[in-house]
Amino acid sequence: MSDDNLNQNQDQSQSIWTEEQLRVLEAAGLPTEPVVEEDRKPTRDAVAAAFREELKHANEPGAKVMSADRELRYCLELQQKRIANRSLNYSEEMVPGAYFKEGLDNIRSWQDGQYETSWSVGFIEHTKTFDRPNMKPYKHKEPQAIYETVVDVRSGEDVSSDTYCCPNCGSVSTIKELQEGCSHCGTAFKMSELYPKVTNYFYTYDPSGRRDPIWKLAIKFGLYSLPVMMPLMVGVAWYQRHTMPEIYGSFTPKIAIMYALGSILVSPLIGYFIWMFSIFFAAGRQISTGTGPALSVGKSRKRYEEKMSKIIPSYTFETFSSRITSLFKLVAFSDDRASLPFYEGGNIGEEFDNVIDCSFSGWMSCNKIKQEGNYVYVTGNLFVDVTRDLGDHIKSQREVYRIKAGRRTDVPTTSNFSIAKIQCRTCGASFNSFKTRNCPYCGSASEPASDDWVIYEVKNAGQTYMLKPLLIVLAVLVLVVIGGLANLGIIKA
Ligand SMILES: [Zn+2]
Ligand SMILES: [Zn+2]
Repeated sequence: MSDDNLNQNQDQSQSIWTEEQLRVLEAAGLPTEPVVEEDRKPTRDAVAAAFREELKHANEPGAKVMSADRELRYCLELQQKRIANRSLNYSEEMVPGAYFKEGLDNIRSWQDGQYETSWSVGFIEHTKTFDRPNMKPYKHKEPQAIYETVVDVRSGEDVSSDTYCCPNCGSVSTIKELQEGCSHCGTAFKMSELYPKVTNYFYTYDPSGRRDPIWKLAIKFGLYSLPVMMPLMVGVAWYQRHTMPEIYGSFTPKIAIMYALGSILVSPLIGYFIWMFSIFFAAGRQISTGTGPALSVGKSRKRYEEKMSKIIPSYTFETFSSRITSLFKLVAFSDDRASLPFYEGGNIGEEFDNVIDCSFSGWMSCNKIKQEGNYVYVTGNLFVDVTRDLGDHIKSQREVYRIKAGRRTDVPTTSNFSIAKIQCRTCGASFNSFKTRNCPYCGSASEPASDDWVIYEVKNAGQTYMLKPLLIVLAVLVLVVIGGLANLGIIKA
């Protein structure tokens, strides 16, 4: 009986229309048969795979990451320019991981009125190097999982292969070819995004992705431990015999050698513990940098969706956070922030001038949502892994930025495709008004791109959010160490 009820409820939640909606639709004479949606999943998966491939070559001259959306593509372009301007040699290698050769698509997904947003994950061994004469070379190698946010329209026709006649030079191209402007005359177009596209990506440490078998790691870590363990073992032997010769006998060179050899023999065991501890430490690092944000992101998603569903229903937290990440990165990598059409914040000074890499950490929180007239303002913390060029060396760390973004609420979002030539109202020249707000030919301001998110404030939020999770991890570590020491009989419980 109760099972039947459950099934019924499930059936109801799965059907597209509720009974009440059906009645309304029928009364209005609208088709009540759900439109059969074409399966776009293969296209999405292909885009996710293409992105991982294109990203490897993003730093090559003239590279365009076309599987990324407009904003992310521009981020990668600006980053490439920043690295070149600082005369850095940069190389990036992504080798599919040892245990998980294949990526997983659609591990999580969210839907709103128009978009289907999903996460794809790939497992890689990720190596990044930065190099320049007179600088300590930087190399970071780690097994990682790369997460990609793939956004797609839920319905709508695919126009990417349709042809379009350039209104300026008359040459015919496909819509897909015009995304970066007409290749014949350079005319720029304002057009709808050709979904599916990757809108955001980030990496996480993947402890399961190690290539070496455990025994090899144990020996390796054991050997690392010898310079400390050998003197320590001999020292302990000397101390015991020195303080209690009546129990242990006297300390002789033979004993010292025995203990030294002994420490080599047990080193794999010690290496194994060190390896375990390193995994524990890595997990702790994930927890300490993850728990705080994780908790606030959990709450944020709910807060955002509750409040925003009443203001702009066609926006999930995922689409929002990936858009804000891209805009933040554009602000960080831009050398001319005043000309960015979506940046209304003040002068940030040199805060970001030495940033050479910046990736979303997977976390964004949403602290405040405020509605004022035709605008909605959202304030949140964005967690990013930032790599900075400090002249004689390169430094990577997690940083947190408080961001205030706003958007008009009276511009309806539509999934209908549109394309229009962009033309300066003063001199008639065509330029990409998404990248710059002033005409590069005559300097006059173009119409603001006011129907999307605009950044009003970017502020370093410091490390205060870390305090609580850090204290918890510290307390756990202290307990573990005390427990371990008591077990070994070093302290008496
Ligand atoms: Zn043209
Ligand atoms: Zn102009």
